[in-house]
Amino acid sequence: MYHGAQEGWVEVISGVMFSGKSEELMRRVRRATIARKSVQVFKSHLDDRYGGLHRISSHDGSERDAVPVSRSIHVAQNVLPDVSVVAVDEVQFLDDGIVTVVNDLADRGIRVIVAGTDMDFRGEPFGPIPKLLAIAELVDKLHAICVVCGDLATRNQRLIDGKPAPAEGPTIQVGGSETYEARCRKCHVVPGRTRDQTELPMETLGRAP
Ligand code: ADP
Ligand code: ZN
Repeated sequence: MYHGAQEGWVEVISGVMFSGKSEELMRRVRRATIARKSVQVFKSHLDDRYGGLHRISSHDGSERDAVPVSRSIHVAQNVLPDVSVVAVDEVQFLDDGIVTVVNDLADRGIRVIVAGTDMDFRGEPFGPIPKLLAIAELVDKLHAICVVCGDLATRNQRLIDGKPAPAEGPTIQVGGSETYEARCRKCHVVPGRTRDQTELPMETLGRAP
């Protein structure tokens, strides 16, 4: 818990899938409820099909209600007056506008807790997460267990028919048949991945005179 002088702040719970982000988000929400705070929970959704109340669940099976949102503006529009804690799960799927939305809520004295996976399946920063990490007062990076070697897992391995998915696939696959595993850096496989070399110093590329 952050103990700064100001009332409002932003907490980010980041990390690989299966690292316990939803569990941790729900734990913080449960404790805020015990403290008799008024709490609202949102969960990003890739589309609006579902409408109404939705469940947020962790991989250990626990659940609670959450309002589904597909765009950052929906969070801003649905925050009730007198709410003191706002939580958003799966925040990586939202647009960059979420950075302004959570900053505004925190400026108004609200404790904002957001959870999201920090990298896409290629190991690249995911959506608004880098900016949220930068503006947050409190950041936690959680780890899972690599299903291949048992080390700490930090990467999301996308599999299609059980095989590592190529880098050129879409970052967000809606209704796809792919599955995901938590893996460490060593065991993470992304066929066809090329890293952006343009920001490296020339010597690193071996092109220096
Ligand atoms: P996240 O929100 O980060 O995807 P969840 O909170 O939904 O994670 O789920 C975390 C739970 O998933 C763990 O407590 C554990 O029971 C289970 N789990 C399944 N696979 C793994 C794994 N490879 N490493 C760690 N925990 C795992
Ligand atoms: Zn591993």
